[in-house]
Amino acid sequence: MTDPAPRQLLGLTRDAFEAAAREAIPTGHGHSGDLYRLAFVHGRHAFERLGCPVPADRQQRWNSLFPISLLEPRRVVEERLEVGTTAKAILATSDGYEVETVLIPMRYNDDGSVAAYTQCISSQVGCRMGCTFCETGRMGLIRNLTAAEIVSQIVTARVRLGWEAKNVVFMGMGEALDNWDNLHQALLVLTERSGLGFGHDRITICTSGHAEGIRRLMALGWKRLNLSISLNSAEDRARSRMMPVNRTTPLGDLQELLRQYRQRRNFALGVNYCLIPGLNDAREDASRIAAFCAPLGRCLINLIPYNPGSAPIAAAPSEDEIVRFVGWLRQDGISVRRRVTKGRSIMAACGQLGNVELRRRLPTETRPGMQHP
Ligand code: SF4
Repeated sequence: MTDPAPRQLLGLTRDAFEAAAREAIPTGHGHSGDLYRLAFVHGRHAFERLGCPVPADRQQRWNSLFPISLLEPRRVVEERLEVGTTAKAILATSDGYEVETVLIPMRYNDDGSVAAYTQCISSQVGCRMGCTFCETGRMGLIRNLTAAEIVSQIVTARVRLGWEAKNVVFMGMGEALDNWDNLHQALLVLTERSGLGFGHDRITICTSGHAEGIRRLMALGWKRLNLSISLNSAEDRARSRMMPVNRTTPLGDLQELLRQYRQRRNFALGVNYCLIPGLNDAREDASRIAAFCAPLGRCLINLIPYNPGSAPIAAAPSEDEIVRFVGWLRQDGISVRRRVTKGRSIMAACGQLGNVELRRRLPTETRPGMQHP
């Protein structure tokens, strides 16, 4: 009988792993539960932690049938500010592509020290959504990450970099909802209690407005999972120019979908708004945001000052421009949190993820054209 094809352990739920182990290793699969748990702690098959010896040939079998492939950290850059240290890691996949993940200080103790970090992770190499303010959008979509590669960003960061994140946000490279099957599987693994054990309320999916993906998320019925959208303009023509997804799902349709999405009473929709001088920072832009959010129940605007990347479309907003826009939103009764810009100097801030070097290296003919769902 031929061996089954190897399956990356970090892409499997515990039940799926145990079932596959029973089939592939009929005698000696009894360690599977412990091996599963240890894999997420140590990033490898930690046979020495099992409390009983596992023969070398059996170890070899586990390793070859259920490999645990961490990504390879190529570079880590840090930005130390008073608000804490933001770190960006460039991780290489086994076929040589690079994705980026960022550790961001998010909660603080009374003395100002960092109480918790959020890890921002990638879902694709590149992205096909083509948002004009985004470095990743300029890469085009190169390929989807597998579920194991998505999860591996967290395990690699823990094991190799010593990062410990309390929350996970899908706001790195790629439109997570455009990679549905792998995203869904990754969510099942991330929330597996005997693995990483993230609660649904500690995970946020951020989307540019991928209608089909939002419907699929809604169908899961995971009431505590957080959702945020990148709005960036509440006027159709301007939004279509900045975010081509708006041409297929205009604001009215997106608003109706989000109105239906509300799955729990205290649900607060995250609305990310990248403030770009001259493009979306006028008084009427603030009023349009208020009108867009009005039927959506509780919304929390994350106001993100634009970070000029390698091909800036505008300057960064001044402090006065930011304060003025926040004031207008508050006048209109909108809850707004001004995002302190973290990671700008290391190209780790919002809209700055994307591998400029990789983009330069890719031959033009291998770059798929921008398409939109
Ligand atoms: S902002 Fe998000 S959806 Fe838009 S191009 Fe960038 S990664 Fe893709």
